[in-house]
This record gives sequence, C-alpha cells and structure tokens, in this order.
Amino acid sequence: MPTEPESALPTAEALALRERYYAASQKSFMPYREPLVFERGERQYLWDDRGRRYIDLLAMNVCISVGHAHPVVNAAVKAQIDRLQHATTMFAHPVPLRYAQELVARMPAGPEWVVHFTSSGAEAIDLALLMAQSHTRHTDMLALRNAYHGATFGAQSLTGIAAFRHAVPLLPGIHHIANPDPYRGAFGDDTQAYVDDIDRTVQHSTPGTLAGMIVEPIQGYGGIVELPPGYLRAAAEKVRRAGGVLIVDEVQSGFGRTGDSFWAFEAHDVMPEIVVMAKGIGNGFPLGAVVAHKAVADSLAGKFFFNTYGASPMACAAGRAVLQVIDGEDLQTRARVVGARLRTVLEGLRERHPIIGDVRGRGLMQALELVSDRRTRAPAPRETAEIFERTREQGLVVSRSGAYKNILRLVPPLCLTEADVDEVDQALEHCFAGF
Ligand code: PMP
Repeated sequence: MPTEPESALPTAEALALRERYYAASQKSFMPYREPLVFERGERQYLWDDRGRRYIDLLAMNVCISVGHAHPVVNAAVKAQIDRLQHATTMFAHPVPLRYAQELVARMPAGPEWVVHFTSSGAEAIDLALLMAQSHTRHTDMLALRNAYHGATFGAQSLTGIAAFRHAVPLLPGIHHIANPDPYRGAFGDDTQAYVDDIDRTVQHSTPGTLAGMIVEPIQGYGGIVELPPGYLRAAAEKVRRAGGVLIVDEVQSGFGRTGDSFWAFEAHDVMPEIVVMAKGIGNGFPLGAVVAHKAVADSLAGKFFFNTYGASPMACAAGRAVLQVIDGEDLQTRARVVGARLRTVLEGLRERHPIIGDVRGRGLMQALELVSDRRTRAPAPRETAEIFERTREQGLVVSRSGAYKNILRLVPPLCLTEADVDEVDQALEHCFAGF
C-alpha cells in the first residue's frame, strides 16, 4: 500500500519531530527565523510546502549541480537500483570502473591518475590526508585559516573556522596559515606576504618537513574567498621543497562551477598530487572521490582501506549521468556566461547599496560581503540577518555564511538562466532597499 509522502506532514508537526528526535548536532543549522520546508524541486527551482516557488541559489549546499530532479540523473539511478543496488568493491562492478575512467579523463594530462570513491566529502578528505602522510612519511600539514573541509576528525582538524571545530583534541601537526584573502586577510592584498608566511610556519612550527598542504581554490563556507593569482603555485613550490604534496579540495568549486575550467585549481597553473571531490559530483546522491597520482595512492597498497558505500553503483551511476549532463547541456559555459551576468547584477547592487563592501567569486560561485562601514570593513551580521530574511520573502534561497555571518553566498545549480538572473536582480534590489 502506498504510504503518504513525508513531505505531506504539516510544518508544525515536522518541526515537533525535528525538535524531539534529532540530536543537537543534527539540528544546529536553522537558517531563517521561521522554518522552511521544501516539498519539491525541479532544475533551479524549489517549491515549499505551501506551493510557493523559489529560485535556488544555494543548490542544497552546492550538491545539486545539474538541477533538482534532473531526468537523466534520476533515470540512471533508477535503472541501476533495479538491476543491482549495491556491489562491494571486492567485485569489479562496471559502473564505478567506467566512472573512474571518465573522471580520470577530466584530469589534466601528465600524471597517471587513479580514483578512490567514498560516500562523502569528509571521508575523501581523511583519505587524502592519509595518502599524503603515507606517501611522504611526514606528518605535518598546512591548511588555510577560514577553510572548511568537513566534520570527521581528520577533516575537522583541517578546518579553520572555530564554529566547526569542537572542543576535543583534534589531530596534531596541522598548522593553519594566514589565508590570502585580499579583502579581510591578515596581510591584505600582499600575496607575497602570505607566501612568505609559509616559510615561517615550516621553520618555526614543524619539524622542517611537511606531508602536504590542503586548499580550497575558492573557500566555500568561508564566504567565497578566492586564492589570488600566483599564490597557489608559489605555495605548492614551498610545500614540495619541504617534502609535501598539494591536496586541492574541489568539493564546492569543481565540476565546471567556476566556468573558466572544469576544476578551479586549473586557473592557478598548478598540478596537485591529490584532488578531493564530493557534493555536486553526485547531484544529491552520496558520493565523493579522491583522485590522486598513482605513485601517491600506491602508498596505501598492502593495507586495507574501505568505505562500505564507496564505489556504490547507484551513486556512481548518478556521477556518470552528471558528467553526461554537464557536457550535453554545456553547463560549464553556462556557468561562465550566466555567472558573468550575475556578477554584473551584484556589482550594480554594490554601486547602489553602501552596505555591500565586496563582491567576489567566479562563475556560479559568487558572494556579497556586507559591512557597516566600507572604510573600516566592519562586518554587518545584524543587517545581513535582516536582508537574508528578506531574500526568502522575495522567493530566493541563498546562504548566509562566513566567520562573521555577513556574507551572502550564491551557488546555484549550473542550469540557472539569464532570465533567472534578471529575476534575482529585481528580488535583491527589494532586499537591499534602505541599506
Ligand atoms: N570540503 C568542502 C570544501 C566542503 O564544502 C565540504 C562540505 N561542506 C566538505 C569538504 C565535506 O563534505 P561532506 O559534508 O560531504 O563530508
């Protein structure tokens, strides 16, 4: 007998269940003053339980890359689930194998890349850390302040935002260096000063050697902070001189989102040894991957390492379909073109509204940073909260992020259109009225 869809629950009842049965850790995110329950999604749109339509500029935290309920992705998963739901990696299932081959084909030429699938980003980050340490036989890692890499012990230890770091002993040997944020960073827009800080950290806080450095080419949760030109290449050189490898976290920035290249690191003329991906890779299906140089990944040979649902045929079927849709609908170009239009809209808003201190990002990964004074750049979290509430009233779903909760992050599904951007323009104008 068909059961009632859970989304048919009245909001009040859903909230009561959430309050009673979710652990505190599961309900720590509560974006709006009043709860919002989504019932349905289609491409770049969401509908709440009252039937109201929203333009999704959050993509369920950058997971919905090619669009909600994309028929190609959903059909691929349905076909797979009916044929064989799960296959452990003991057996050579063709779907993850083909997918590994297709992912490697997306990597820059040169190294021999190999793939390990996981079911989440944090699992993949932990594995990348393990690979870096096993390969180099060094222990210490550099990570950037303001970085987010996940919630497992390894990933949390690499994360550089206090709100995500719990008061327990995290991994030793991880050093958070000044993040090269031209707007708010410790050394302003002096890229060389950030690079020089690496030498000082290696000299004073490590044994003189590194297992590696991990970076998001564009910090996501940290508020869309892009690495300045030249930084990553110079940083990678220093890390390698100390015996380490470069790990790039493309969990938010990969898969064409930045528009210019398939991977955001490609804009920086570097070749990482390890690339971590998740979220948009599966368009909402639990999937992550570590793609690494074979020589680095081979350091784990001879020991078991196993994520039960890594290489899930269902998730990998979704992953293959996502690549197919990105190509078929030319979504990387869409990210560049529509992203440029969105950027123009955001720049226009900044001209009219003094509260907007900074507009930044690339492709369909953009942000507005709100300040109470453009000169001092003092964050404006209270006003951001107010404007954020208005975005909901205006039918937009955006994210409020950053260490000071003063950044509006716009990371829509890659199928956003120029007509949507025009709608976003008008809606945001209403949101910023009076600011
Ligand atoms: N890296 C980045 C850049 C992320 O944004 C996230 C998740 N927000 C992760 C890693 C961790 O991924 P997951 O939540 O799937 O563990």
